[in-house]
Amino acid sequence: MRAADIPDDISEVLLTEEQIHEKLAELAQLVVADYAGKEVVLVGVLKGAVMVMADFARHLPRHITMDWMAVSSYGASTRSSGVVQIRKDLDTDITGKHVLIVEDIIDSGLTLSWLLENFASRGAESVEVLALLRKPDAMKVEVDCRYVGFDIPNDFVIGYGLDYAEKYRNLRDVAVLAPHVYS
Ligand code: 5GP
Ligand code: MG
Ligand code: MG
Repeated sequence: MRAADIPDDISEVLLTEEQIHEKLAELAQLVVADYAGKEVVLVGVLKGAVMVMADFARHLPRHITMDWMAVSSYGASTRSSGVVQIRKDLDTDITGKHVLIVEDIIDSGLTLSWLLENFASRGAESVEVLALLRKPDAMKVEVDCRYVGFDIPNDFVIGYGLDYAEKYRNLRDVAVLAPHVYS
C-alpha cells in the first residue's frame, strides 16, 4: 500500500518508495567499489530490514551470500528497552568473512552496537553497517555506520519494512505514524 491509502494513520510522508530506491542504488555503487575483490556476507536484521535487503541486494552485480538474524529490543512499544535478545541466530559461520549488516533504522544504536561486538567476537574479518535510516537525535551510543541512507528527525516512523505492532510493514513509503495510533 501507499501512504495515500491510509491517510488517517500517518502525519507525514518522509520518503517515497522512489527516493528510497534511488538511494539504495547509490549505496550499492559505493559498496561495490569498497568491496572489490572481496566476498561479502550480507546479514539482515529481521524483520525490519527485509525490504532494504531485498532491494539493496539486487543492485549488487556479483555473488554475495545472505544470512539473517532476529533480535528483539522493542516489542510492541515505540521505545527501545535497551535489552537485546537473540531470537534467531545466523545459519552460517562468519569467521574470516567480510560482513555487511543491513539494518532498517538506527535509533538509540543499542541493537547495532551489541551486534557489532557480537560479530567481532565471532572472528569476522570485517564488520560494517548499512542502514536505510538514522535518527541522529535519538542515538544513545556512538555506532560507526559506513553506509547511511537518510538522517531523519526523532519521530516514530513506519513503512518499508518498519512496523508498529507488526502492522505497516507493507507500506511502500516511510512515514511518521500519527500519534493518535499509539497514544
Ligand atoms: P535501536 O534503538 O536499538 O537503534 O533500534 C532497534 C530497532 O528498533 C530498529 O532496528 C528498528 O527495528 C526499531 N526501531 C527504532 N526506531 C524505530 C522507528 O522509528 N519505527 C519503527 N517502526 N521501528 C523502529
Ligand atoms: Mg532493525
Ligand atoms: Mg518493530
